[in-house]
Amino acid sequence: MTTTTLGHSPFTRASYRGIDLYAPNRAPSRVDLSDNTNRHGMPPAAAAALRNLDPETVTRYPNLYAHTLKESLASYCGVPAGCVVTGCGSDDVLDSAIRAFAEPGDAIAFPSPTFPMIPIFAQMNGLRPIAVPYSAQFEIDVAGLLATRPKIIYICSPNNPTGTLTSTDCISRLLSESSALIIVDEAYIEYGGQSLAQLAVTSDQLLVTRTMSKAFGLAGLRVGYAIGSPGIVAEVEKSRGPYKVSTVAERCAVAALDSDMKWVEQRVVEDVVARERLFDELESLGLSPIRSQANFVLVPVRAAAEVALSMRQRGVAVRPFTALPVVGEALRISVGPWKMVRECLDALQASLEERA
Ligand SMILES: *Cc1c(COP(=O)(O)O)cnc(C)c1O
Repeated sequence: MTTTTLGHSPFTRASYRGIDLYAPNRAPSRVDLSDNTNRHGMPPAAAAALRNLDPETVTRYPNLYAHTLKESLASYCGVPAGCVVTGCGSDDVLDSAIRAFAEPGDAIAFPSPTFPMIPIFAQMNGLRPIAVPYSAQFEIDVAGLLATRPKIIYICSPNNPTGTLTSTDCISRLLSESSALIIVDEAYIEYGGQSLAQLAVTSDQLLVTRTMSKAFGLAGLRVGYAIGSPGIVAEVEKSRGPYKVSTVAERCAVAALDSDMKWVEQRVVEDVVARERLFDELESLGLSPIRSQANFVLVPVRAAAEVALSMRQRGVAVRPFTALPVVGEALRISVGPWKMVRECLDALQASLEERA
């Protein structure tokens, strides 16, 4: 008989030994501003589509590659449907793209700090993840990224967790000065910044990933997508495989895109107002938040883990970071209805005062 240490079996492949389960604290909280999802609830047409779904439909397989969803996404983004690929969340699209375009041993370079799933997907696909720190002003280090001789460069804009943008000029420089595939993650594009979707259609070197998990309030349905040239998206689709978007997810996502745009746009406007107000309130607590273009604000805070724990005891969840490159210790606070943000600010103030 063999015994196994936690998370390992005798069959674990060597390259997976350093990978841990992704397990942020997801314990329920009265006010949850920890994961950047839309806190205004489900868009109404999507909710109606869910209620009205004929249960019989789930006895059959979904569409192979979600062609009705592609049509709706294409008209939302103003691109041809042949330039769209979908997936089980944009995580799935990112993972598939990495697998499609890089061989084991290739490098994937990314500014740091950024989306923590990227080094994990890199390792799971046998790639070498190479983090290249942002400047103190959160500009990407173009020369530093190129010097890693990467097969893929990943840029998140607006960036999670800083909320900062990478300019189109910087992306253009990457495109002209390297032969790498450039992946631009626009998970938060509804909240700020200029989309590169149009550029992706005509470039054969650019893939723009997006999601319905954030502004659209459908994280539980797992609907992500990407925009690229027909040649690029076909390779991602092949790598992704069939049946990745469920029938339930496709129906609700199509309903949201076709009939809920007003709702989504209004919630985005509210969240942007709340974001600016949150920024000001954090400053008046004596903190130095980072100016954000997303639906969250990153604020450097000493003893971030302890402060987050103390906020949790007051019923408010935010995301602590203990050692971010460039930033150090910080809290990432999502925005939502102002009442929630107000409660969060009160819990933060009380937690900071308790430590003072
Ligand atoms: C939330 C998030 C995603 C979205 O992931 P899904 O799998 O679509 O839910 C992708 N990229 C970044 C940077 C994110 O923060």
